[in-house]
Amino acid sequence: MMSSRASARFEAIQAVDPEIYPIMQAEVRRQQSTLELIASENHVSPAVLEALGSVFTNKYAEGYPGKRYYGGCQNMDGVEDLARARAKQLFHSDHVNVQPHSGTQANAAVYLAVLQPADTILSLSLAHGGHLSHGLKVNISGLLYNVVPYEVDRANEQINMAEVRRLARAHKPKLILSGASAYPRTLDFEGFSEIAHEVGGLHMADIAHIAGLVATGLHPSPIPNADFVTTTTHKTLRGPRGGMIMCKEAHAKLLDSRVFPGSQGGPLMHCIAAKAVAFAEALKPEFKAYQQQILKNAQALAEALVAKGNRLVSGGTDNHLMLLDLRPAYPDVTGKQAEDWLGLAGIVVNKNMIPWDERKPTQTSGLRLGTPALTTRGLKEPEMRAIAGLIDRVLRAQGEPKVIEAAAAEVHSLCEQFPL
Ligand SMILES: *Cc1c(COP(=O)(O)O)cnc(C)c1O
Repeated sequence: MMSSRASARFEAIQAVDPEIYPIMQAEVRRQQSTLELIASENHVSPAVLEALGSVFTNKYAEGYPGKRYYGGCQNMDGVEDLARARAKQLFHSDHVNVQPHSGTQANAAVYLAVLQPADTILSLSLAHGGHLSHGLKVNISGLLYNVVPYEVDRANEQINMAEVRRLARAHKPKLILSGASAYPRTLDFEGFSEIAHEVGGLHMADIAHIAGLVATGLHPSPIPNADFVTTTTHKTLRGPRGGMIMCKEAHAKLLDSRVFPGSQGGPLMHCIAAKAVAFAEALKPEFKAYQQQILKNAQALAEALVAKGNRLVSGGTDNHLMLLDLRPAYPDVTGKQAEDWLGLAGIVVNKNMIPWDERKPTQTSGLRLGTPALTTRGLKEPEMRAIAGLIDRVLRAQGEPKVIEAAAAEVHSLCEQFPL
């Protein structure tokens, strides 16, 4: 079904690289024939893919529009100006830098702009949903800076702003980070800004996961209050892999210099062209309807899982993702086993630590499930309920091959019904 389009797309590769060609084809088939529930992934549009595969990859464009270090940059300026203007319109921000190669690069550039080595960062503990670029010991954030983590509250597994304020007063961080990779609840960005400014620090909101929800008004925006807002462009925003930084005009010049030449050389102009295309898509009314459906699908999936006797961390979700605590319904099943068994059935998920997890990070007691990719594919609430049923059957049967086989058949028919 897909093969004629796919092989048309890879004709040149087929001709020159017989080793890569079958792998590319296999990946197209894998994406077609599996259900993608990894919360950080999505399926981009053909227009975004076309921009990524364009001759913009050939060009060096160090510098910024109007101030390049190479000749021949008039079309580079054209796309970068459009990407910046569209991002500003989408998020209502003063200043945008669309050059960071990734979310982690975006965060590093902000750190370089406002911190000295050994300065203090206050950020969500990685074990409680934070991101590696917010202070993992072996990431640039943990290597260069003094990281003080805040955790979720034991009682409701949500961030407790009074505790954040207590830690901020005690440690006087120069930078407070909000934002997460595995946190299913609404973030109080205004509260974070208030606390940061109260202790003489700055607030950086990292909206990598929820950017699409923020852009469409379905999650409160940090833009009015935060000093810096970083994001990826490839998660709910459904653009190419990459990063972006927004800030107040007062920080613009310093920030830009910390992206280039501070931490990067030439920008990935094909990615920036694709970001511009994705932002145009995100400005359309259909994109808001898409984000609304992501939320409806997450609610439907969460409710159906709970109806099967499952426990979700914090009791549910306000956004596009949820953390399933495997222990109550499937006490002997680890996150690793669950990921493997569901993978065999064609349901792609990732194991995830839950707060105060007693299992090792390589095993875990949780699964992180998200609905952005399935929603792009057109699946709605009835399919979410069906998928919750499949997940429950596979885990309850502890990976029994016959049960996996039966689930795989149902996954196959869903994939046929909702082609990419
Ligand atoms: C995904 C993510 C990032 C960074 O992503 P890259 O993989 O570096 O593009 C940064 N912050 C948070 C909160 C994330 O979830």
